[in-house]
Amino acid sequence: QTLIELNSIQKVFFTDEVETHALSNIELSINAGEYISISGPSGCGKSTLLSILGLLDTVTNGQYQLNGHQVASLNATQRARIRNKEVGFIFQSFNLISDLTVEENVALPLTYRDDFSSQDIDKAVKEALEKVDMAHRANHFPSQLSGGQQQRVAVARAIAGNPSIILADEPTGNLDSKNAEAVMSLLDELHREGATICMVTHDPRSAKRAQRLVEILDGKVIADNPIARGVQAA
Ligand code: ADP
Ligand code: ADP
Repeated sequence: QTLIELNSIQKVFFTDEVETHALSNIELSINAGEYISISGPSGCGKSTLLSILGLLDTVTNGQYQLNGHQVASLNATQRARIRNKEVGFIFQSFNLISDLTVEENVALPLTYRDDFSSQDIDKAVKEALEKVDMAHRANHFPSQLSGGQQQRVAVARAIAGNPSIILADEPTGNLDSKNAEAVMSLLDELHREGATICMVTHDPRSAKRAQRLVEILDGKVIADNPIARGVQAA
C-alpha cells in the first residue's frame, strides 16, 4: 500500500537576496516494501528531498502524506515525534555520538519514544546489533571501530525502532569497496525482509541495487523507472 505521497512539492531557500528553487513540483509516491534510489548531479536537490521525506525540513508548498499523517501542516514538535517513530536515517558520515557507546548510540532515539519501555529498548538494541553483526562491540565507542563497523552500528540505530521507512544519504560514500559491499548487502537483506528503503547515491553500482531509480535534475523528477533485475537478484 502507499506509504508516502508527495504532491506538488516545492522547496525554496531564501538566503540574503537570493531565492534558490531547490525542488519544483515534485510528485512522488512510494509503496511499503519498495527500495528506491535517488540520483542526479550535485546540487540537483537530492539531499533536500531526503530531508523533506525524513521530516528534517519543511516544504514551501505542497502536500506530504507519510503513513497516514499529513505532515506538511505539522509544527516542529509534532514533526519530531512522527520522525522518531516512522523514519530511520543512515548518513554518509555515520553521525554516531562519540562519547556514547555503540549500544547507547542505538538506544538513544528509542529513549524519546513513549511506546518503548526500558526493557523494550534493551531488547530492540540487542536485536538490531545482532542483525548487523555488531553485538560483540556493544560496549565499544565509535572511535574504536572501523568505518564499516560504524556504519553497521548506524544501520542498527536506524532499524531498532522499526521505522516505516529507512532513508540513506550516500551510505557508502565514506567506505572502501569491501565495507561498502557489506553495508549494501545489509540493505538488500533488510529489503528482502520487508523494509522500505529510499537511498540517495552518486554511485551507479549502489543505485542499481534498488528496484526503482528516481532521477532528479534542477529540482525536478526527470525519470522514474523500475531497475531491470539481473539473475543474482531474483
Ligand atoms: P544535492 O543533494 O543534490 O547535491 P541539495 O539538495 O543539497 O542538492 O541542494 C539543492 C539546491 O538547494 C542547491 O542549489 C543548494 O545550494 C540549495 N540549498 C540546499 N540547502 C540549502 C540551504 N540550507 N540554504 C540555501 N540553499 C540551500
Ligand atoms: P570488519 O571486521 O567489520 O570488516 P575491519 O576489517 O574494518 O572490520 O577492521 C578490523 C578490526 O580493526 C576491527 O576489529 C576494528 O575494531 C579495528 N579497526 C579498524 N579500523 C580502526 C580504527 N580506525 N580505529 C580503531 N580500530 C580499528
